[in-house]
Amino acid sequence: MKLFGNVGVRNDLSVCEWVHEKGTAVSGSIVVATFVFGAMVGSFLNVCIHRLPRDLSVILPSSHCPACQTTLRVVDNIPFFSFLALRGRCRYCNVKISWRYPFVEALNGLVYVVTVEKFGLESVTLVYALLLSALIVVIFIDFDYQIIPNEITFPGMLLGFLSAVTVLPISWQDSVGGLLCGGGVLFFVVWISPYIFGREGMGMGDVKLLAMLGAFLGWKATLFTLLLASFSGAMVGLILLATKLITRREPIPFGPFLALGGVMVIFFGEGLIEWYGGLFEVESSRLGEGPTLVNYEIR
Ligand SMILES: [Zn+2]
Repeated sequence: MKLFGNVGVRNDLSVCEWVHEKGTAVSGSIVVATFVFGAMVGSFLNVCIHRLPRDLSVILPSSHCPACQTTLRVVDNIPFFSFLALRGRCRYCNVKISWRYPFVEALNGLVYVVTVEKFGLESVTLVYALLLSALIVVIFIDFDYQIIPNEITFPGMLLGFLSAVTVLPISWQDSVGGLLCGGGVLFFVVWISPYIFGREGMGMGDVKLLAMLGAFLGWKATLFTLLLASFSGAMVGLILLATKLITRREPIPFGPFLALGGVMVIFFGEGLIEWYGGLFEVESSRLGEGPTLVNYEIR
């Protein structure tokens, strides 16, 4: 497995030198600042996860305790510190706060750090960070409610397209192709499932989610995302059935698998696709490391 696809373009800069440069570029203070910023965004993601499936505004009213409705002050709303200081309970009514709140904050902070480490301080990092945050929200909501809000997928499709026009390492044609291909393939699956399996396997939310991912990733990476999602979904489903944790009738939401497939492709796309067997030879060099190539050309 080659770590970097298009070595020929920059063979005068060895991988070691490149990694070293990257390592010094992203200093400790940047890592800390990125994590704190990610955790603050994570706090907003919690609001989205709670309110979007309930059709509530994510802007107003400001954060309040879901049990006693008391509006939270700034000091009650600092990522994990408030949770730790209050020992996981509401300051006003003492009701237990879900561990999920600090977990999502830490997760998003960590994801931002990994994204900055991988892509550097580039505009493309901002786009991937936004996409990854949206995917975190999708995973939690789909897991709980088996829905994927249009409030995420529709703006996501537009952002994916606009990012492809400006900063992403794919062309706008590839972005549109990804959107149509991702949406189209899953739409066909949704349409044909009742005829083959006698029931619906997926929902339109999954169709729109893969269309959104397609707008960010381009069509080939989108098909690969679907491949990863189907494989991991089938594995997890079989394990859950074999261990009798679920019955055959219980639906397993597919959205989290699509989201995780997308995450894998963003971070390990070039390696995964090469490993899959040179099917995507040309594109493998453009996936996941476009911004580093751009970097390199500027230097
Ligand atoms: Zn309360």
